[in-house]
Amino acid sequence: MPSAEIITIGTEILLGEILDTNSRTIACKFRDVGIDIYRKTTVGDNAQRIAREIRRSMERCEIVITTGGLGPTVDDPTREAVALAMGVELEFRADLWVQIRERFRRFNRIPTENNRRQAYVPEDAIAVENPVGTAPAFIIEQGRRSIIALPGVPREMEHLLKSAVMPYLRERYQLGELIKIRVLHTAGAGESQIDALIDDLERLSNPTVGLAAHSGQVDVRITAKGDSEQDADDRIQPVEKVLRERLGAWVYGADQDTLETVALAHLHLKGWKLVVVEAGLGGEFVRRLAAVGDGFIGGEVLPVLPTLEELISITDNFHQLRKADVSLGVAIFPGADKQEVCFIINTPEEQKNISRPYGGPPAYAPRWALHYGLDLIRNL
Ligand code: ATP
Ligand code: MG
Repeated sequence: MPSAEIITIGTEILLGEILDTNSRTIACKFRDVGIDIYRKTTVGDNAQRIAREIRRSMERCEIVITTGGLGPTVDDPTREAVALAMGVELEFRADLWVQIRERFRRFNRIPTENNRRQAYVPEDAIAVENPVGTAPAFIIEQGRRSIIALPGVPREMEHLLKSAVMPYLRERYQLGELIKIRVLHTAGAGESQIDALIDDLERLSNPTVGLAAHSGQVDVRITAKGDSEQDADDRIQPVEKVLRERLGAWVYGADQDTLETVALAHLHLKGWKLVVVEAGLGGEFVRRLAAVGDGFIGGEVLPVLPTLEELISITDNFHQLRKADVSLGVAIFPGADKQEVCFIINTPEEQKNISRPYGGPPAYAPRWALHYGLDLIRNL
């Protein structure tokens, strides 16, 4: 996202004789397309001081836009100031002089020698024809930077901003290619199960909807392109609504939410404290819960794989010892072709043992068991 600074030029603004409305017009236009505005400055009609401000702005951001000081008189210093800031000369452009004279002819006026000044622009500037006034505006590019000089009269400034500058910036900085991503996290359903429910949405083009499976968790990613943040949000919102309707309680959160945060928040609502005993998961279950903390009051990682009976009694003892409300014991038992993942769950309301075969790559079994177990807690 490019950044910009606005410099309004005019001693009348400094003296409070006129109110600066140009910077507000520009700020609103820039905001709508996602250009970050870092600073607004007002400088009097003095070429040296204007040049200094332009140079400072160029150090901080990519787009420097000025208004005012492009008229034909000596106290219109912007052309000279920009040339000074860029370290280039002003050059007479015959084509601009033709345009200026042509415009005067249409208004039945005769240009003075002063008006010739307006046919001068800094070397290598891109001239922007001004059909609503006499002074041509101009743009200078330096690497990724653009310095844009617009006239001061609000009606002229707005016209050039809309008809020439915004299309130019859109193209140069790929504005309107703003991309926003919303991720819905699900647990409890397989990728193909979800795919079957939302395959029509996966064929959309803006936003696009895609799936990513992570051992027992599936993320549904909604990606929208828009002209602005608001536009992208407006595209995401209705699709998110349909996804949530179809996937129901499988959706446990969005974006930064994690299964452990959501699981512990659920227990917190019930006023329950949790302990966990794990074997064969490498300590990951306890580590992830401990990182969240709230409501998790104890974890035990068994160094040797217990029998199922041992797991039940160790979990029970730990539950009593810590005066927990909920305890979960989990172990991964090796098998001939599939591993067996066992969960022991004790709550004030029920006691149950759940056993699930896991047929995926053995290295992923701990992560799958972790996600499955956290999903069990979230649904207690
Ligand atoms: P001109 O050819 O009319 O001299 P210019 O580009 O030199 O145009 P200025 O002389 O700086 O512009 O300003 C012309 C008039 O435009 C000012 O007298 C004022 O009325 C208005 N104006 C200039 N700057 C602003 C601003 N930042 N906000 C609102 N109005 C402005
Ligand atoms: Mg002027």
